Amino acid sequence: MKFAVVWSDELLSYDFGPGHPLRSDRCKIGFEELLRIDSLEVVKPRYATEDEIALVHDKEYIKSVKEGKAGDLDTPISKEIFDPARLSVGATLRGVELLKEGYKLSVNLCGGWHHAFENKARGFCIFNDVAIGARYAQVLGFKKVFIIDWDVHHGDGTQRIFKGDRNVFTMSIHQHPATQYPYVSGYESENDETNLNVPLMPSDSEQEIMKRVLPLIPQFVKPFRPDLMIVQMGVDGYREDPMSSLDLSDRFYDSISRIVARCAKNNGFPVILLGGGGFNFPKTAQLWRMIVENFVREM
Ligand SMILES: [Zn+2]
Repeated sequence: MKFAVVWSDELLSYDFGPGHPLRSDRCKIGFEELLRIDSLEVVKPRYATEDEIALVHDKEYIKSVKEGKAGDLDTPISKEIFDPARLSVGATLRGVELLKEGYKLSVNLCGGWHHAFENKARGFCIFNDVAIGARYAQVLGFKKVFIIDWDVHHGDGTQRIFKGDRNVFTMSIHQHPATQYPYVSGYESENDETNLNVPLMPSDSEQEIMKRVLPLIPQFVKPFRPDLMIVQMGVDGYREDPMSSLDLSDRFYDSISRIVARCAKNNGFPVILLGGGGFNFPKTAQLWRMIVENFVREM
């Protein structure tokens, strides 16, 4: 069994600067935690090409990021962020390549940018590496891709990009959008054959959430028969995270990661884990490590 984390310190340049919640030291601390897992190899990332980014994004939008003209208040873009953003996507693509090479699991902590639309940077996300990773997996021959996103925010960009696509299933478990960003999507009314939103209210107990959510995973994954799975493993639903108001503890992340890993093992597909949100340090790093360890142990 082979497991790898894609990393180089160059990934630390994907950072929105002092005062912004998305600081790259969160990934650095996360990587240091992962180094404690013996069986995890470290593999260098590569840059995604503009053509690869265009598997999902409009060419005009890519050009505007390159020129430092896109962006908004949450997601400030200057010319200098283009290459770090390309590297961050390339780390995900390298992770997908490793799965093609026979690895069972790969990890990119500096990824999971699920809010980016095909033509727009949003919510700290410039290029949607979750979606580009899924399209690239298909290019490499993994026809059916299951995306599970347990970041506390709805995976809105990813859902929108694959709407109506029967070969990509998008499942998002998140704080109810009536009470949390992105507010306008993530409702159960958007569910269809290949999209499942599972919104959670701040008043729901962890016990109730686990009882409701965990059985859905094998129930939806198995009949879809995925060739590969992408997990956006954001931990910003943790009870002490400054960005949300769910009451989740280590127990939730421990259980959900074990269930997904067992599901992958039982159904014989490889998994790439993408970091996503998590803004309480060093807890974010500890939770990521627990999740990755569970996958290594269970797969
Ligand atoms: Zn988030």
